[in-house]
Amino acid sequence: MKIELVGTGAIYTKYNSACTLVNSDMIVDMPNGTLKQLLKKNHKPEKIKTILITHMHGDHIADIPFFLKYVYNYMEDNKEIEIIGPKGIENQIVKLFNAYKFEDRKEIEEKMNIKYIQLEQEKEEINNTNSYKIKTLLVSHGEEKPAYGYIINDTIGLTGDSGICNNVEEIVKNSKITIADASLLEGDRCHMGIDNIKYLTKKYEKPIIATHLRDNTREKLKEYSIENISVVEDGYMFEI
Ligand SMILES: [Zn+2]
Ligand SMILES: [Zn+2]
Repeated sequence: MKIELVGTGAIYTKYNSACTLVNSDMIVDMPNGTLKQLLKKNHKPEKIKTILITHMHGDHIADIPFFLKYVYNYMEDNKEIEIIGPKGIENQIVKLFNAYKFEDRKEIEEKMNIKYIQLEQEKEEINNTNSYKIKTLLVSHGEEKPAYGYIINDTIGLTGDSGICNNVEEIVKNSKITIADASLLEGDRCHMGIDNIKYLTKKYEKPIIATHLRDNTREKLKEYSIENISVVEDGYMFEI
């Protein structure tokens, strides 16, 4: 799999908000600015067939209507999109369309054949239309419920926004590499911190790429240079 970290920052930073592209045809979260970032890097957004949403905070879903409109208005074929996310994601996307004052939501939905998979279990396994095996795990993001982390093809883990919890440990344990929320210097009930990812990488002896970074956390992580923990720039790519 080819992985690109489109964004690695928290919302109030100059970095793009956390967002990961998998093989050009699947994306995990669509924060504000995602469509522009993809176009800037000469990606073809219309190739994206699956959108995995971790939770419904604005810095994870704000660009979905822009993306759908782009694909609908500018592309002739391949208009099938699968959106996987927490229960209520369909309704939330409708609300976003309404808030953005787009009047062609119904038309877009009908012509694009959007398939929603709304998650309700603590853990599920989905074999999706793109032949990805996606494990979904409920994680712990304070009052924002539900929030999910994912394991794709038993290889790449993504915690989404989460404090340390059993399912975050499951994700790290069962993935070859994990892209993990490391917003804070010290973790709390909403986000992990340097202390948490250090604990995880030591316990499971697995590499972690820190994401959703606040600026002070990014600086400290670079300064500490901890074994098996990577701090990367937006646009960082690797194959696994
Ligand atoms: Zn969040
Ligand atoms: Zn967030």
